[in-house]
Amino acid sequence: MTNLVEVKDLEVHFPIKRGVLFDRVVGHVKAVDGVDLTIVKGKTYGLVGESGCGKSTLGRALLQLTPPTGGEVVFDGVPLTSLPPKQLRAMRRRMQMIFQDPMSSLDPRMNVESILTEGLRAHGVGGNRTERRAVIAKTLDAVGLPRWALSRYPHEFSGGQRQRIGIARALVLGPELIVADEPVSALDVSIQAQVVNLLDELQDQLGLTYLVIAHDLAVVRHISDTVGVMYLGALVEEAAADDIYATPLHPYTRALMSAVPVPDPDVEDRRERILLAGDLPSPANPPSGCRFHTRCPWAQPTRCRDERPALRVIGTATHRVACHWAEDIEAGRLRPHSVEA
Ligand code: SF4
Ligand code: MG
Repeated sequence: MTNLVEVKDLEVHFPIKRGVLFDRVVGHVKAVDGVDLTIVKGKTYGLVGESGCGKSTLGRALLQLTPPTGGEVVFDGVPLTSLPPKQLRAMRRRMQMIFQDPMSSLDPRMNVESILTEGLRAHGVGGNRTERRAVIAKTLDAVGLPRWALSRYPHEFSGGQRQRIGIARALVLGPELIVADEPVSALDVSIQAQVVNLLDELQDQLGLTYLVIAHDLAVVRHISDTVGVMYLGALVEEAAADDIYATPLHPYTRALMSAVPVPDPDVEDRRERILLAGDLPSPANPPSGCRFHTRCPWAQPTRCRDERPALRVIGTATHRVACHWAEDIEAGRLRPHSVEA
């Protein structure tokens, strides 16, 4: 197993500016605040959390589309964070992004052929016109779009087909890593599985490595090898996918999991619904200690408020959890303050 991506203590802090000239920094939004994670070559890392938890910023920082304010991103052994712009540009081709809403990420005035050609031209790859056409034709086949799509415009396609165009635009450059930010959340449920399956097939055929970002645990379940759960700029739990779905150990993951509906409507849902108090606090002013303590149904006096829990290995060797009381909660020695039967 080779690591394609290594993220070390990554930080993205945005200054909050005030004053007539917006020149007075009064604080920072800590969108990403000390994240370590590793993505194995050819595998999928699913990153999950509520909107505003910093997962999209992390995805963009990984590709250096948003410059990190601290920490390091190493891609295939090369530290991106210290790379001169020219070399970074060359690396960019190897890392592509797929966005949530293909309609707003595709230029409506460009037909599919121009959309796909643009990337090749910008990176100076794909050879001459004939060679470029061959690369584009191969890419269309790979994403399951017909040749006639080339002369059409984004609005002439359905949502699912548009996402195929978005995937083709990323693929045409022959990337090794794809960051997919909520790739199916704008699509009808019936289309979501098709797009997820397509991503899965492409991974098998091309050996792609994925970071798939979603607010919904159900979406990343079948495609992820590893799942990380983010809360207020930090990872609170990370494990092999099977492991985290079978045995979620962090109270926040348990709450997210209890909100995922049981797939079979005839099966009675006997699980506890874990209700979270209040909204996601502001990342400009995160709670002290465990950042989840203001909403955690298991929060214990003083320690949860005062001491920030580190990610530590619990259970299997690859299961990491940032909770002081994970073992006691798992063993049933601590009961939640508020659950709905
Ligand atoms: Fe809840 Fe405390 Fe664990 Fe944080 S450390 S998740 S507040 S029990
Ligand atoms: Mg896979």
